[in-house]
Amino acid sequence: MRLADDFRNSELAKGLIDGIRRTSTRKARLMEFCGGHTVAIMRHGIRQLLPPTIEMLSGPGCPVCVTGNADLDKTIALARIPGVILTTFGDMLKVPGSRSSLQEARAEGADVRMVYSTLDALQIARQNPSRQVVFLGVGFETTAPTVAASVLQADKEGVGNYFVLSLHKLCPPVIKAILDSGEIKISGLICPGHVSAVVGSQSWDFIARDYGIPCVVSGFEPLDILQSVHMLVSQVEKGEFKVEIAYRRGVSAEGNKRALEIMYQVFEPGAAAWRGVGTVAGSGLRLGKAYQRFDAEAAFEFDPGPTVEPKGCICGEVLRAVKTPQDCKLFRTVCTPANPVGPCMVSSEGSCAAYYLYEATDER
Ligand code: SF4
Repeated sequence: MRLADDFRNSELAKGLIDGIRRTSTRKARLMEFCGGHTVAIMRHGIRQLLPPTIEMLSGPGCPVCVTGNADLDKTIALARIPGVILTTFGDMLKVPGSRSSLQEARAEGADVRMVYSTLDALQIARQNPSRQVVFLGVGFETTAPTVAASVLQADKEGVGNYFVLSLHKLCPPVIKAILDSGEIKISGLICPGHVSAVVGSQSWDFIARDYGIPCVVSGFEPLDILQSVHMLVSQVEKGEFKVEIAYRRGVSAEGNKRALEIMYQVFEPGAAAWRGVGTVAGSGLRLGKAYQRFDAEAAFEFDPGPTVEPKGCICGEVLRAVKTPQDCKLFRTVCTPANPVGPCMVSSEGSCAAYYLYEATDER
């Protein structure tokens, strides 16, 4: 039996669903921040199992989706520089920028290579001393420490041809920005599990304290999510607002101190542009002074050209939870996983891709 089987037990799921139905008497709008949760909720049909009192909203927690076109254009321009090897995780290859994608740049001759870890990218740099190897750093607090570790290793070994384009983003500041905008009202937040494993559940204390919103850190299996919904609904019904952890096998209040140490040794917070949300102070990570020589943006001259947004795509509104993929006129017609117009249809954690794959349609 796999560990995951314990968290997919249908009898236990029925018990949790009954518990949620018995507990929930008031309207509750619960947002899952994380794209991984969105996919799990859609894949397991969890929305359909909840009582009508509960509305689930999907937030901007998909790092690929929130990378704006201006940053994607920078990446593609970097990849086209002769002598550069652009290394990236596979989920960025198909994401369309203003005029093309990394995949198209590769088809036109750019040396774009998919890697499974930052250390693979560093190995490519060691093996190609006459080339400049750039790693595309896209991700949240979960990914950034591993990128920081590759920079520390490159520094230790004196690898002079390894660079990072840091498009990393930090989650707490963007949640604050979304709540401050007042555009959406939520009664509970399902906090991201993997990010919380690094930053600790205490990073969400401000949401309960300053906004009076209950928070529960959730894992990614169906029982994890149902338990989190039950805990949130219980808080809503009692008029409580605190941070709880339903993912104790992965998350503590303090988080992973070593990962945070490494991350802040190499990077420092700076402004970052989020698709749909705009520029949020302190929500990005740039290379700190001691590691500036690894900064791809400073090391190369390139012109990404003017930014153009995909016509008709409402990814920005989907990411802010003010619209759903089904509100987009291009959904399922023009925009499909085989022909994605926006990033939310490309990423495995994107809302549009999750709705496309798992939401029932009349044709099925
Ligand atoms: Fe953008 Fe496609 Fe999603 Fe519409 S369906 S919001 S075009 S990614």
